[in-house]
Amino acid sequence: MNYPLKQFETKQTPFYYYDLALLDKTLDEIKSHLDKHYHVHYAVKANVNPQVLRHIRQAGLGCDCVSGGEIQACLDAGFKAEDIVFAGVGKSDWEINLGLDADIFCFNVESVPELEIINELAAAKNKTARVAFRINPNVGAHTHANIATGLSENKFGIDMQDMEAVIRRAQDLSHVHYVGLHFHIGSQILEMDDFAALCQRINELQDRLEPAGLLPENINVGGGLGIDYQDPEGRPIPNFRDYFATYANGLKLRPGQQLHFELGRAVVGQCGSLITRVLYVKSNAIKQFCIVDAGMTDLIRPALYDAYHRVVNLSNPEGQRVRYDVVGPICESSDVFVTDYDLPQTNRGDLIALQSAGAYGEIMACQYNCRRLPLAFTSEDI
Ligand SMILES: *Cc1c(COP(=O)(O)O)cnc(C)c1O
Repeated sequence: MNYPLKQFETKQTPFYYYDLALLDKTLDEIKSHLDKHYHVHYAVKANVNPQVLRHIRQAGLGCDCVSGGEIQACLDAGFKAEDIVFAGVGKSDWEINLGLDADIFCFNVESVPELEIINELAAAKNKTARVAFRINPNVGAHTHANIATGLSENKFGIDMQDMEAVIRRAQDLSHVHYVGLHFHIGSQILEMDDFAALCQRINELQDRLEPAGLLPENINVGGGLGIDYQDPEGRPIPNFRDYFATYANGLKLRPGQQLHFELGRAVVGQCGSLITRVLYVKSNAIKQFCIVDAGMTDLIRPALYDAYHRVVNLSNPEGQRVRYDVVGPICESSDVFVTDYDLPQTNRGDLIALQSAGAYGEIMACQYNCRRLPLAFTSEDI
């Protein structure tokens, strides 16, 4: 990671910093593994920074949206509607209408009531909506419980055993057109066996649908590939080779079927850091606290998911190591980035980087405590 320290010194902290050269390298690596019938939709909810979106669009990826606001952000960023897919368990009427007006590629439908509303809204516009069904494959993922999505206890998707009936229901409706099956089992998944288990489930389902003549044109396997939060410098680019190979080897696609992916974290996670300044260092009988000017309002993942972000003292990299709890200024005891963490000795004014913060970082920022939202800079404008 290359940090332009001199330029950082002049900036108001905290701010996000995006290394667009690393983003481009990551995008190139993804593209190097794609077959001609593979399509990658960037999961926009991970990060909507306009420059980040521009680089992703220029690389030729489509988008995976989970709200009307995201669809609008993608259209504004110049993505083509035909490259947009739209998921979510609770799509509002205005969001469905926005998708219909733009003529997006596909609605990933999560229930029969939603299917019926899409049909009704499309009929009112005299349009036909392309729909795929999000299936809950009841596949566990080795990840934090709050970001596992593919189990029956999770709110997402439609049960696999109901699929024939649901597809037939779609075929009975005149303003929806069934084009695909959609899956997404969770996030920050590093064990390829989890994706292999998903392939198995999809194969079983396809074997069942085939004799009934219900095979789809598109299979969308979602996203979820994790990044190395422990060693962002050593492994800045996720293991796309094994990820795509798992699907190439595990999934039995039928001739002509298109395979779609929805990667979020793996695309943008490593290119972003949250840059913050040390305000105070204080100690008590058992702890040394390094108090920084970024808090959980700027990066909520540690408080929300027990997530780990590597912490680097940019100003004093060679300093003697001291054990700190690195904490923010917010009035919540969960406003802690790391505990008992060995960091080169910190002093007031030192610049600190919280690494691997490109995904689900800036976009989750909030204004609790009447704080300002963090600024963002990229390697292009600094
Ligand atoms: C969040 C999400 C993704 C992306 O997940 P990552 O773990 O960031 O790759 C893909 N598809 C759907 C439907 C999602 O909700």
